[in-house]
Amino acid sequence: PQDDRIERIASTIRVIPNFPKPGIIFQDITTMLLDPKAFKDTIDLFVERYSEKGISVVAGIEARGFIFGPPIALAIGAKFVPLRKPGKLPGEVISEEYSLEYGTDKMEMHVGAVEAGERAVIIDDLIATGGTLCAAIKLLERVEAEVVECACVIELPELKGRERLGGKPLFVLIKSA
Ligand code: AMP
Repeated sequence: PQDDRIERIASTIRVIPNFPKPGIIFQDITTMLLDPKAFKDTIDLFVERYSEKGISVVAGIEARGFIFGPPIALAIGAKFVPLRKPGKLPGEVISEEYSLEYGTDKMEMHVGAVEAGERAVIIDDLIATGGTLCAAIKLLERVEAEVVECACVIELPELKGRERLGGKPLFVLIKSA
């Protein structure tokens, strides 16, 4: 039986067709942030899942992983590590290139933020093709962290992003067509 909170959370997410370009159905989580109960329930569902699991790293993907990651990290007593677009982190970084629909992008993480053997969860708002999460997994695995799970608010299952995660578990609250 699905948790009662999930349907309510889903009802607060605004869907905007043809943003940022024709054919994309944008799932806008900013409307959920306007509803303190829905936002809190979302955080609580992740906190309930990741408490007492020996997780010491919550890695959040720029930009919307920076909204959900920090409150989860604080609640479970883990560090928060931002995974950023290129050129944003001031210290020494490692980076992973990944492919987009047109061209490529890069994701960066500070050297020294995560130590070998740490147990990590990676957070983003949404998984579409899985390319973004795949790059995040690689960054953490390059420093020999253990990626316990990836977590998103929303999955677009038709895009089969889950299959790109190399067998890593993916936890989502909402599956959307
Ligand atoms: P992907 O790498 O294809 O899994 O894309 C996931 C990333 O792109 C996430 O950081 C999402 O925030 C963003 N994204 C992709 N598709 C959508 C969508 N339909 N609505 C909102 N965000 C999206």
